[in-house]
Amino acid sequence: MKTMNLCPHPILPRRSSSSSSSSPTLRSHCSLTQQHPLRFAVLGAGFAGLSVVWHLLKQSPKELNLKIDLYDEMGIGGGASGISGGLLHPYSPKVKPLWEGAQCWKESIKLLRIAEDASLSKDCKIGECTQQDMKAFVASKRGILRPAMDMKNMTKLNDNAKICLPCCRVQTLNNEEAQNLLPGVCLPFNTAFFLPEALNINPRHYLEALFQACKNLVKESISFDSGEKQLSLHKKSVDGLSEFEVSGEYDAVIICLGAKVNMLPEISGRLPLRTCRGVIVHMELPDDMRCYPEHGPSILSDAWIAVQDSRSLDVGSTWEWKSINSSPNVSSDEASKALHHLLPKASTIYPGIKDWVFTGARAGLRAMPPLSPLGSLPLLGCINDFISNNHSCKYWLFGGLGSRGLLYHGWLGNLMAHAVLSCNEEVIPSELTCWKNIKSKY
Ligand SMILES: Cc1cc2nc3c(=O)[nH]c(=O)nc-3n(C[C@H](O)[C@H](O)[C@H](O)COP(=O)(O)OP(=O)(O)OC[C@H]3O[C@@H](n4cnc5c(N)ncnc54)[C@H](O)[C@@H]3O)c2cc1C
Repeated sequence: MKTMNLCPHPILPRRSSSSSSSSPTLRSHCSLTQQHPLRFAVLGAGFAGLSVVWHLLKQSPKELNLKIDLYDEMGIGGGASGISGGLLHPYSPKVKPLWEGAQCWKESIKLLRIAEDASLSKDCKIGECTQQDMKAFVASKRGILRPAMDMKNMTKLNDNAKICLPCCRVQTLNNEEAQNLLPGVCLPFNTAFFLPEALNINPRHYLEALFQACKNLVKESISFDSGEKQLSLHKKSVDGLSEFEVSGEYDAVIICLGAKVNMLPEISGRLPLRTCRGVIVHMELPDDMRCYPEHGPSILSDAWIAVQDSRSLDVGSTWEWKSINSSPNVSSDEASKALHHLLPKASTIYPGIKDWVFTGARAGLRAMPPLSPLGSLPLLGCINDFISNNHSCKYWLFGGLGSRGLLYHGWLGNLMAHAVLSCNEEVIPSELTCWKNIKSKY
């Protein structure tokens, strides 16, 4: 392996941003000359961690020797990402565009395409799937239907629909138009908003394919790059950041542990995050029943219905605030409570759900960030000053993706990789780093 004598860190030019303050500690630490290949540890292999890994590999210069260790106690997609509903659109429940929704949408779609391509590579293994099935994780291009559930909000919904994003449109439908899309759908106020470009994916298959895309980048670098790139997945639990201090081998550690970030002793109780467990129930249609329409949309109402295929769908989700239970396993008691909670809500819009049979449930823990005037924004940034001083490497946080991980992971993973490689937190919009200025304890 070649070593670089020039200072590899920062690697990328620093893009200045007027919206964020600079940290002197950050800049001086980065100016150290490194004689060894750059080594990064990425903690967590969910939407956040895998997006960061892909962007680190993609953005690093060809001549750079780079080694990335990806740590996850459960493997790829073992946390909230792998169990999520996989619904992707850039809107609030009142179909108002979310903060930087267009940018987030664009970058997530880009990653989905990259994963889709990788899923077709011959050495890609996704579960028990055959080659043809692999592409299925993004095949649900059915759009999403959002019925108006409340007369009070109707004006707001209609106004918001008029300012929808061109990349993911919102069409206002009357009852007849909605029936054409999904026969039997019930609209309490005869109006629904249809997002034709919105989609839902199989998140676990997507993450496995994205990991394959990362491995493909490493492989390609052998032929095309002068520097050596390495990526290793370690299925191992991280008990604290001190583990990385002892070995002293990393230039940066990027923490993408989802709701379990609070379990790290150095961080516990110091982030403005609340946890919330959610259960999703899986339903299948018996063979003698008529299929869900081939192009029938998924549904977002008080409960959502994410259609996987014409005989299989997920209904979600429950919201158990303050839970610290991150287990994907759901007891029969918890599943039965979730069914009683979700099915009446789902059947208000789609009465046909009564013909579907419960076949299982899964759960995950969300890391919910505080509500700001711009919405609930994830938490990003360098946390060396935040956790205490005198660290041998730089620690970065990419967390608080709330209930929108799929939307945020593409763009924010890109920004995070740029910040890490350029040692410059200022490339991250201040809206995502300003949480560090709030000094209260959580
Ligand atoms: C029921 C439910 C439904 C959802 N539906 C949607 C949806 O439809 N669309 C959407 O956009 N979002 C949805 N979300 C939200 C989405 O799942 C999250 O925003 C997203 O998964 C967060 O990604 P992450 O990478 O930050 O965390 P995670 O996916 O939780 O990844 C963290 C990873 O870190 C690992 N880890 C944790 N602690 C340790 C440790 N100490 N040592 C080693 N490894 C560790 C875990 O195993 C895990 O793989 C849903 C969430 C839930 C709970």
